[in-house]
Amino acid sequence: MLERHLARTKILATLGPASGTTTRIREMARAGADAFRINLSHGDVETRTAWVKKVKRVRKELERPVAILADLRGPRLRLGVLPEPLVLERGQTVRLRAGRKAAAGVLPVDYRGLLKDLVPGHRVLLRDGRVELKVVGLEGRELVCKVRRGDTIDSNQGINLPDSQVSAPVLSARDKRDLAWAAEVGVDWIALSFVRRAKDLVVLRRAMDRAGLDAPVMAKIETPEALRNLDEIVRASNAVMVARGDLAVELGHEVVPIIQKDVIATCLEYAIPVVTATQMLESMILAVQPTRAEVSDVANAVIDGSDAVMLSGETAVGADPVQAVRTMNRIAQKTETRLFRGVRDPRPGLRKVAGSVSITEAATVAAAVAAARQSQAKGILAFTESGRTARLVSSFRSGRPLIGLTANERSFHRMALYWGVRPALIRRFRTVRQMHRNAAATLERASWLRPEDLLVALTGAFSRTGATNTVRLLHLSQLGAVNQRPAES
Ligand code: ATP
Ligand code: MG
Ligand code: MG
Repeated sequence: MLERHLARTKILATLGPASGTTTRIREMARAGADAFRINLSHGDVETRTAWVKKVKRVRKELERPVAILADLRGPRLRLGVLPEPLVLERGQTVRLRAGRKAAAGVLPVDYRGLLKDLVPGHRVLLRDGRVELKVVGLEGRELVCKVRRGDTIDSNQGINLPDSQVSAPVLSARDKRDLAWAAEVGVDWIALSFVRRAKDLVVLRRAMDRAGLDAPVMAKIETPEALRNLDEIVRASNAVMVARGDLAVELGHEVVPIIQKDVIATCLEYAIPVVTATQMLESMILAVQPTRAEVSDVANAVIDGSDAVMLSGETAVGADPVQAVRTMNRIAQKTETRLFRGVRDPRPGLRKVAGSVSITEAATVAAAVAAARQSQAKGILAFTESGRTARLVSSFRSGRPLIGLTANERSFHRMALYWGVRPALIRRFRTVRQMHRNAAATLERASWLRPEDLLVALTGAFSRTGATNTVRLLHLSQLGAVNQRPAES
């Protein structure tokens, strides 16, 4: 609990056949994995259910916050079933038709709105962009396309339509089943692939309500359309993911680094946590060491201000998932140490107030960060019901330890994804005095904190989310005893 050897930038590791055992999950958590992602595009229900149980067992055993993120497939277009892999050659003509089954010269696309969304001139990308078709015409219920770049394609492969506004429903029948599953097993976060606009998240939340699932939502930014609507999507999300794989396919690799910086900067202004994802240590799927370019990629994602960095195939199907997590933790930590050496201004943090965050709350949090800096406090204590006070403080990226204290076990695990936040679970309380006493009992177990350490505590009209309005400077020893008298330092 409250470990200090882990990086402040959080690590999100994708589970897969290479990492689904209790032993592996435990080792990855020890090595620095703060959250596990279950990609609902792959695998079967039984396996996923077993993973959730294992993660819960491990986090209980380690007494550590570890979040479980279920990643929905969303409006991702796919090819239907091909009888066998098919080689497409440049210059060739192929036809696309909505449906599951192939016919001679016709590719099935698992999407009914195909003819509505695509017009001549639009590109159709297959195999992560390795195959490019251009729509040249419409004949009956088929789209006629010319192959501009060819390769082999196969059943169920993903399709990208970078020039089109895809009107596919936000959630498929399968996504709704996945939400029911997530509600049943209990997950901490829901991610949605191919978010296009803020309204998609409204649709998702409504479906989650119907499924009886109460969890924060992460919007995966992976299309040009999402980038055009970035501001409204960020404001409507609880977190955002820069899903670089599909972004690169749809926009070209060369623009992804700049887009990554833009998305992260936007998220930081609103204090919305942001995850940088895809191919961060890709070569470690096979190799024991990352390439220097990959090390730079992770370090730069940290410098850009990511709350978390993600491992995909490295932990899902890689040769050594634990080593991948360890490597990522080490890179993040080294980078942070350099970043915080010497006096550095905290980031502007929370410059735009979104959703239900009040001006009082924003100002109180900014004051706490400033007070901690001026007083050289040992750390900031954010008392929080939903985790949001901790999230707001986190957005300032101050180098000081930040402890998110909550009696709510779900908030405890959700906070695992927030940059720099060390979640601490305290016993339930009835009064403010009791809350402080319970916090003191929990903090006594953090060996790096001493009774005489000066702390900045953020509290509010208690146990009401959004009512944070008090900054207090006190020594740890005063927390359990007196809670009104200010520190005499
Ligand atoms: P996305 O676009 O959602 O990231 P992806 O297909 O790239 O989808 P990742 O979750 O990034 O998938 O994982 C990388 C690779 O790990 C996948 O291509 C797949 O081969 C493998 N993988 C991930 N999850 C599973 C799983 N549950 N079962 C089997 N293989 C998996
Ligand atoms: Mg993707
Ligand atoms: Mg991926």
